[in-house]
Amino acid sequence: MAGFRAAGNGAKATVYDDTSESPARASADDERALLRAENDRLARRVAELERKLSLQPQTGLPTRFRLELELEELIEELSRGDDCAGFSLLIVQLGDAYTIVRKTLKSSVSEWILYQTGCRIAGLLGPRDRVFHTHENEFVLILPGTKGQELGAFLRSLSTRLSEPHIFSGINVAIKTATGVAYWPEHGRERSAILHHADIAAGSAVEARKSFVLFKPELLKRVVERVELQNSIIRAIESPALEKIGDQFVMYYQPKLFASAYEGRTLRIDRIEAEALIRWKHPTKGLLGPSTFIPLAEETGLILPLGKWLIYQCVRRLAAWQKEGRKSLALSVNLSARQFHSEDAVEVLASAIAASGLDPDKLTIELTETSLFGDPQAAAKILERFSSLGVHISVDDFGTGYSSLSHLHRFPLDEIKIDRLFIENLDGNRQDRIIVRSLVAIAKGLGLTLVAEGVERPEALDILWDMGCRGFQGFLMAKPLPPEEFTAFQDKIAAQGMVFTF
Ligand code: C2E
Ligand code: MG
Ligand code: MG
Repeated sequence: MAGFRAAGNGAKATVYDDTSESPARASADDERALLRAENDRLARRVAELERKLSLQPQTGLPTRFRLELELEELIEELSRGDDCAGFSLLIVQLGDAYTIVRKTLKSSVSEWILYQTGCRIAGLLGPRDRVFHTHENEFVLILPGTKGQELGAFLRSLSTRLSEPHIFSGINVAIKTATGVAYWPEHGRERSAILHHADIAAGSAVEARKSFVLFKPELLKRVVERVELQNSIIRAIESPALEKIGDQFVMYYQPKLFASAYEGRTLRIDRIEAEALIRWKHPTKGLLGPSTFIPLAEETGLILPLGKWLIYQCVRRLAAWQKEGRKSLALSVNLSARQFHSEDAVEVLASAIAASGLDPDKLTIELTETSLFGDPQAAAKILERFSSLGVHISVDDFGTGYSSLSHLHRFPLDEIKIDRLFIENLDGNRQDRIIVRSLVAIAKGLGLTLVAEGVERPEALDILWDMGCRGFQGFLMAKPLPPEEFTAFQDKIAAQGMVFTF
């Protein structure tokens, strides 16, 4: 353009214009080519991103992103037509065993499990069914037209197929799954509603340890109650209320009896210990057991101030018992996983012991298998620090988690407690008897004290005794008791010449 104006005459201007414009046109062409290349690059990048967003690399299955799109389309299509059969939406969650494998073994093992799970699910689907891999340990299925009995049959084959062991380079793991189901349109017409309701059903299946749960409106009510409870636990433990924590929380004590002889209905008692079990005196709901609020306290992190309070409480209580002359009485305190792994857990216990002048040899901390075996190396280090305080260490609910025998003997343990699940039906269930017998042998082999929890019936006590177990805790002996009732129980046994008759 500058050349054209400067030329002054047409012909010349044309020539001049031609020569002067060609670099300009060339640069415009270059620019267009550049733009086109950039466009293509962006389109490829978008396609690549879309592919990444659409496909889960470990399983090659469509992702949550695709699920949302396809679900929306399906709902639109079904809402327009008159196919009233609708569909079922299933959320399948892999159990704790998967998380433990992911944290403790090579990533190739967990990837293999995910891949196999995807294949196993796909193998069960009909031509109109869809499966998505939506989170690390979660799959979502859409089954058009499958409900009621037909769905029941599908769910049974799904859980059987998915719980078959995964075998990979010498490792053999079986993973339980929990599935939540919601029906479209019965349980929600909107995409978000049906996903939310299937999710609630899946949460309920996990909590109840069921392989599947169908959504029902009462489940929503329970979620609301849970949130209310969560809010009230926050109010009870948040800092302004901390000084008055003892107004709302109390400790109960359940006897653990160690016996040297058993005849008729009488146990000769060697020693009595106590396990401290927390209770919440809820302002409106009455006395609540720990299973209703400990998981909430864990989730919110409030277990840390609550746990600190209860450690001080228990240490003070034991020191007071020792001062009263109950020198032989030992006490166990439960530490939750989060509390055990918290930075100052050992310091809290050490300072509580120092402040009370307690003999630490009479204090035991109870830890669940999940606290220990999730990260065995880290757990071993913390355990050494606890152990150096002089307290004893017990593994609670033994047999339900994923103890690895190779780690068991490397931990500085003193006691294992057999979970009450194995004790409940000991006389009726052969498999439970086999497990308990091997736990007795493990404890003996490793020189550990063994306690059977949940001893409710004489039949269970008979079997446990014959197997060689000598430590018992359960309703047959006593329920968890307020402190003064616990000492009365202890005094009664002493008054009878250290025998307990039921
Ligand atoms: P746990 O440590 O395994 O405690 C034993 C549970 O079994 C107690 O339930 C006890 O009441 C119950 N139990 C004992 N004998 C029998 C029996 O013969 N039959 C039946 N059906 N149940 C029996 P509780 O008090 O509800 O405590 C449940 C769990 O909550 C405890 O299991 C423990 O894991 C946790 N917990 C309790 N107190 C505390 C605490 O102070 N801190 C932490 N972190 N967790 C606690
Ligand atoms: Mg316990
Ligand atoms: Mg237990």
